[in-house]
Amino acid sequence: MKIGIIGCAGRMGRELIREASSISEVELSGGLERAGSEVIGRDLGEVATIEIQGAYVTSDLEALVKSSDALIDFTLPEVTIEVARVAANYGKAHIIGTTGFSESQISEIKNLSGKMPVVMSSNFSIGVNLLFKLTEQVASTLDLDYDIEILEMHHRKKIDAPSGTALSIGEAAARGRKAQLKTQARYSREGRVGERKPGEIGFATLRGGDVVGDHTVIFAANGERLELTHKASSRNIFARGAIHAALWTDGRKPGLYSMMDVVV
Ligand code: NAD
Repeated sequence: MKIGIIGCAGRMGRELIREASSISEVELSGGLERAGSEVIGRDLGEVATIEIQGAYVTSDLEALVKSSDALIDFTLPEVTIEVARVAANYGKAHIIGTTGFSESQISEIKNLSGKMPVVMSSNFSIGVNLLFKLTEQVASTLDLDYDIEILEMHHRKKIDAPSGTALSIGEAAARGRKAQLKTQARYSREGRVGERKPGEIGFATLRGGDVVGDHTVIFAANGERLELTHKASSRNIFARGAIHAALWTDGRKPGLYSMMDVVV
């Protein structure tokens, strides 16, 4: 399968190049970076500090889409939307790891996925997808005496908060309780905020250093507390999962899929 890497010089982009170069079923078709970037024209191997790959960085989105079977995209919401529009025109699979979309951007991706397979996940690691499942199961077992709080920590350069993964954990918890995250979420607290409301799903965000991604969901009652934690120590797990998802789309019908569809 020919795979193009969108945002190939980014933290995830370079990890994807390294991982793809070690998988025999994958041929790198090229990488996309913004026009004017100093890496345009360079070999992807050079960008990822590995051996030469014979595939190059371009800012020509349409040309990269045409020469690829699938695009893996860990960039910015506005970039991903542009990629999805072009990928839909050519019916090419789009693997979306980008986080921080607005509701209208998500509904545009849903509409476009009528024309190509899209796998979108806030987290491509197997462990986190299991955490989503466990969270839903625990939330459906415990009653409202167990307050749900979600804590996440990421590196200092992350620009969106709470993390997309924390929001997905919140959605899994809400699903387990047959509630809507939209109405139950409490994204931050500051000052005299009053007592916690029953059924609230709280979030707390920490930022610092080079933390790849830590997530804990806490079920706190009087007298006991259950905590489920996942800690990512390498971006490689996300890259491996995203490439696995790209290979999975081969021969798949158009539609919007999640990493859960890929792993289960
Ligand atoms: P990053 O800033 O290191 O990389 C983003 C790259 O996109 C940069 O190289 C940037 O130059 C490039 N870019 C920006 N505009 C572009 C354009 N117009 N065309 C082409 N390329 C463009 O960020 P990162 O840490 O790699 O994370 C990227 C995204 O992936 C974030 O939203 C992050 O939350 C998400 N992420 C998701 C997962 C997951 O498993 N789903 C895991 C890690 C990170």
